[in-house]
Amino acid sequence: MIERVGGPAVRIPAGKLLINGQWCDGAEGRMIAVYDPATEEKIGDLVAASAADVDRAVQAAHRTFESTHWQKMRPLDRGRLLEKLALLIERDAEELARLETLDNGKPFGVSRNVDMKFAIDALRYYSGWSSKMAGEYIQLSPFFDDGGTYRAYTERRPVGVVGGITPWNFPLGQAVQKLAPAIAFGCTVVLKPSEDASLTTLRLGELILEAGIPEGAINIVTGYGYEAGQALVDHPLVRKIAFTGSTFTGQKILATSARHMKRVTLELGGKSPTIILADADLDRAIPGAANAIFPNSGQVCTAGSRLLIEASIFDEVTKGVAQIARGLKLGSGFDPLVQLGPLISSRQLNRVSELVSTGIKDGAEPLCGGGQVVGKGYFYQPTVLTGGRSDMQIAREEVFGPVVLAMPVQNAGDIKALANDTEYGLGASIWTRDINKAHLLAAQLDCGTVWINTHNVLDLAMPFGGTKMSGLGREFGTEVIHAYTEPRAVCMRLETSAFD
Ligand code: NDP
Repeated sequence: MIERVGGPAVRIPAGKLLINGQWCDGAEGRMIAVYDPATEEKIGDLVAASAADVDRAVQAAHRTFESTHWQKMRPLDRGRLLEKLALLIERDAEELARLETLDNGKPFGVSRNVDMKFAIDALRYYSGWSSKMAGEYIQLSPFFDDGGTYRAYTERRPVGVVGGITPWNFPLGQAVQKLAPAIAFGCTVVLKPSEDASLTTLRLGELILEAGIPEGAINIVTGYGYEAGQALVDHPLVRKIAFTGSTFTGQKILATSARHMKRVTLELGGKSPTIILADADLDRAIPGAANAIFPNSGQVCTAGSRLLIEASIFDEVTKGVAQIARGLKLGSGFDPLVQLGPLISSRQLNRVSELVSTGIKDGAEPLCGGGQVVGKGYFYQPTVLTGGRSDMQIAREEVFGPVVLAMPVQNAGDIKALANDTEYGLGASIWTRDINKAHLLAAQLDCGTVWINTHNVLDLAMPFGGTKMSGLGREFGTEVIHAYTEPRAVCMRLETSAFD
């Protein structure tokens, strides 16, 4: 148990691997220390899984996938397993949310009302998909007439063992986002959470066992990305990688996957614009722009990190966003008044600090923030930068911190060019009262999701993913079936003479 001032005691799950329904140690006995990002205190240990450990987990997932029990399980029964898991997360949501806050740093209210709620909803949403794996009947037009009649149908088959590699910004939610569609569509899974936030995934492992999910169907290996993650991607029995994280790692995964022609879905970084037109309702757009970047301390892939504002309202909007930023309370996620927690790690804090310092050297000016918070914990001040240009590093690279770069747009015709002047293409929001402008501009933005008069609204029924360097494939919605299944065509020749 870890005691927290102002917060309840939190039970830390044991540093073990979940392989074939059993908790076990890593073969080499190496461990990784886990730190509370708000206090920098050590709170636990994780196994640093080796390639041999990953192999054991993949072999278990493969055996289960091939087993008659798994192959013959009724789709509705796979859905019931996910529903059971949803009920168990619901039962333990407070405890899981405390663990997420301790491990990741985010405010408890966010852990409870966003992360846990998303995990529960995702399990329920995908449990319904388990019984919707339908193919189609196809009437053929054969090239030759051999007296037969040809018919064909397709069936959707699960891809096989899925490697789910998840980041640290929404740890439990991301783990569920990978395992739920995999199980719904009849795949089996090996999860590799981020070494920076694995604790709720391990606690989820306990609930997976309690839910009665067959052994080997969901395995969990903790460890370093370059070791355990790489071994998972490189394993020939893993047929698909479902990854969320940086574009840099996504590129490596794509290259490695080519060796065995693995299927991949890559949900990667972003540099999403929040576009505020001169006719916008600023009472909504200004808090909307702040809300697009600061929640989760900016560690959100769709964060509105570029604020593009029509020049006539630039000063009013930037002053308004900076005023909100200055009023945000930073601190321990267990303090109910705190709105922003720390960044995940000292590495991430240094990365954000360096990007902002370079931005300032390049000519950006902080309207507020612009530095680390002195004291314990990996806290960075909510920051609004002006004086930005599109060619600056800070305008081009994903910062993944509470930092927004505001740029004026002189005329409406420049908006599309500036918004699309990025190698990323994850999201964008447009703030305007003019429905014509909203839809015409939305159609010109090269990205996976466009929000109008809102930002960061995700829904399990809406496809999610990016264009360009923001990734490959889509999660959520009807698109998800393509990510975890493949069609198999069956073609048959019928003798029709009997009825001629
Ligand atoms: P990574 O992309 O490196 O990490 C994401 C996951 O991939 C983690 O589980 C990591 O493991 C794993 N991983 C790392 N290297 C490999 C590899 N070679 N093969 C397989 N898996 C691997 O992100 P970082 O944690 O390094 O964060 C860096 C930047 O990435 C952030 O500043 C942010 O810009 C971006 N990012 C974007 C996210 C998004 O939601 N789009 C989420 C997280 C980060 P481990 O953590 O153990 O190294």
